[in-house]
Amino acid sequence: MRFKGHYHEDMLTVEEAREKILLEFRELELSYVSIVESFGMTLADDIVSTVNIPPLDNSAMDGYALVSGNTKNNNFVEMDVIGSISAGEIPNKQITPGKTIRIMTGAPIPYGADSVVPFEDTDEIERKNSGKLSNKITIKIKVKPGENIRLKGEDIISGSKALYKGTTVRSSEIGVAASLGLTHLPVIRRPVVSIISTGNELQSPGTKLSKGKIYNSNAFSIASLVNSYGGIPKIIGIAGDNINELEKVLYSAMEDADLVVTSAGVSKGDYDVVKDVLANIGKMSLWSVKMRPAKPLAFGVLKSKSKKVPHLGLPGNPVSAMVAFIQFGRPVIQKMMGKELFPIPRINAILDDTITNFDGRRVYSRVKVYKTQKGIYRAKSTGSQSSGVLTSMSLANGFAICPEFTDKIKKGQTVQVEMFDWAENTF
Ligand code: AMP
Ligand code: MG
Repeated sequence: MRFKGHYHEDMLTVEEAREKILLEFRELELSYVSIVESFGMTLADDIVSTVNIPPLDNSAMDGYALVSGNTKNNNFVEMDVIGSISAGEIPNKQITPGKTIRIMTGAPIPYGADSVVPFEDTDEIERKNSGKLSNKITIKIKVKPGENIRLKGEDIISGSKALYKGTTVRSSEIGVAASLGLTHLPVIRRPVVSIISTGNELQSPGTKLSKGKIYNSNAFSIASLVNSYGGIPKIIGIAGDNINELEKVLYSAMEDADLVVTSAGVSKGDYDVVKDVLANIGKMSLWSVKMRPAKPLAFGVLKSKSKKVPHLGLPGNPVSAMVAFIQFGRPVIQKMMGKELFPIPRINAILDDTITNFDGRRVYSRVKVYKTQKGIYRAKSTGSQSSGVLTSMSLANGFAICPEFTDKIKKGQTVQVEMFDWAENTF
């Protein structure tokens, strides 16, 4: 055995492994990106408005701008219509007692007016229908000063903070930014995650499969997880179990990467090459994590002449690779993106199938959570829990958790489920 890294015979809990891994990561730098691209990113600065929103007092309704004191309770008042203003226009007439201006939603309030009476509360429709929409209108209600007027700066006052540093940008923040006139926002840039698949047995999808080989699926499932967490995946390719090849691929993977992810070659029984190369070009530890699937995990820091890049070595089995990346890759991406390390949402569900824990590890059991007609969540096993069976992952929307210290959760009992796909329509 040539491996020169560290073996930790003691098993780590999922939380301990996560904590050790997170220590090697920092929030990334600020970059300016277009507002649409900023979706899901973290604001790196407060945004102070240079405009008032709305910029002028304006009408909240289509109606008639007038002096509220001229309207009467239980008494219709006929007024002279002296003009009309649409949104985007500037009023060029002023309101005096007994006069009104027809005004559209969003149009600036003419000087002298203090309220707007909506069309519905005038005889606008009757006049229109009888073809007599003239320069007169009858106001049917009494309004108070300020009624149906949106005040200048009511939403945002020029010079005040409109968006806050540390906020995750969602559609509403993008809308606010656009309403301030901004085209770009200062955000924490997205991490680039380079992905390498190791193993002599692997071939790329789209090629004709040779005897004894399998298609490389890990690179693609992991790349899409990276995408879903907001990172930028970079699929580097397949490296065979060969020192020179792997070393070359690893060095090229480090360029521009904030994290290098490899899959396979981290179990103790594996061919030594992966471990040797990884230990040669950096510092690496091999861990056993108290979880099922995804017990073996490698973590370290790769070093080239110019830089250091953290490295996460996932197990090779397709489900193990995904489970490990969901548990360890997700928080790492959140941290680099300056986000709070919010956990995967958990819900309580009633088990349809018993979960057995053989050896004191935390079991992540693939289940499909569904809602009964009574509105109760139930969790059904999606089939074989073998770490090679990716289709049972594909049918699942959550992991039912059987804790380390529990040897069984029986059918009919309540279980906590990590909803890695949290969308009501997947129930
Ligand atoms: P290993 O970690 O190298 O012992 O691999 C464990 C299992 O995962 C083996 O059956 C491998 O063939 C399989 N495996 C490894 N890498 C991949 C991959 N990129 N895509 C699909 N299966 C893989
Ligand atoms: Mg292998």
